[in-house]
Amino acid sequence: MRLAKTDPRHPFRALVRAVALALLLWLPLTALALPRAEPVPGGVTLIDLGDAAARPHARFNGRQVMVIRQDGRWLAVVGIPLSAKPGRHRLRVDDANGKRNSQLFTVHDKHYRTQYITLKNKRMVTPNAEDLKRIRRDHVAISAALSHWSTPKQVELNLDAPIHGRFEQSFGSRRFFNKQPRKPHSGMDIAAPTGTVVHAPADGTVVGTGNYFFTGNTIFIDHGRGLVTMYCHLSRIDVHPGQKVSRGETIGAVGMTGRVTGPHLHWAVSLNHTMVDPALFLPDDIVRANFPSLERDTKPKH
Ligand SMILES: [Zn+2]
Repeated sequence: MRLAKTDPRHPFRALVRAVALALLLWLPLTALALPRAEPVPGGVTLIDLGDAAARPHARFNGRQVMVIRQDGRWLAVVGIPLSAKPGRHRLRVDDANGKRNSQLFTVHDKHYRTQYITLKNKRMVTPNAEDLKRIRRDHVAISAALSHWSTPKQVELNLDAPIHGRFEQSFGSRRFFNKQPRKPHSGMDIAAPTGTVVHAPADGTVVGTGNYFFTGNTIFIDHGRGLVTMYCHLSRIDVHPGQKVSRGETIGAVGMTGRVTGPHLHWAVSLNHTMVDPALFLPDDIVRANFPSLERDTKPKH
C-alpha cells in the first residue's frame, strides 16, 4: 500500500507540517523566558540596549549587569536593591568599542509589610563577640558566592519552585526580631517539613556550600551572567562546589539550621549581586495562586 506520506493534499499532514514549521520559526525567538519586570526596590527592570552586533557591557551601582540577546536586540536584566530609593537611576553602558553611554530608568515605590518575630535564642538577635567574628567571615564567603560571574551559552531565566510548600509573602518585609529592627527579608520563605527534598530550579553550577551563623546549611548555584540562587537552613547538602546540576535535580533537603523559628526553605535569588524577589522568576500558575498582588502589579497596562 502506498501511504500518502508526502501528499500535500492530505489535510491533516499539511496541518502537522504547518505547525512544525511555525514551531521552528517561533522557537528561536521565544526560547528565552524573561523575569517579570517590576521596577521597584527588590524588583527587576528590563532595559533595551539596542541592536549592535557585539554585546554591550552594563553596570549598575558599580556592579556588572546581565545583558542577553532577545529578538535580535540586547536587553539588560537589572536587579534593583531593596535599599534603592524611588526615583531616577542610571545604568552605565559601554559598547563593544568602549564608548560610554548611560540609560536612565525609574524605580517606583513599593510598600512591603512589617513582620515581628520572636526568637528564644537571644544570640540570634544580639550575637556575642565570637559570633560577630564568625558572621564577618560568613559575609565574605557569601559575598564571594553571590558575585560569581560565568558566561554559559544561554541563561535560563525561568525558574521552577525548588520545593512545593506553603509560600509566604515574606520577600522585602521589614523585620523586627524581639522588637529590634533588622535588615529587610531578602528571600522567599517556603514552609515545608524537615527532609522535604530541594530541587535545582534551573541548570547551573554549585559555586559554594557551607554552614553559616544566620543561614545555616547553605547552597549557592550560579546560573550564569550574575544570576545566583541561594538555599538556606537545610538539614542536608547533597552537592559540592564545582558540581554541575540540572533543572529538577536534588540538591539537599529542608531543615531548620541557622536563624529560624521552624522548618522552611529560605530561597534567595541574586542578580548583579543584588537580592531580588524570587517570585518574579516563577511560572505564572504559581504566581497567580500565591502572589496575587504581583500578578496585578506586573500585568501589562493598556
Ligand atoms: Zn527567610
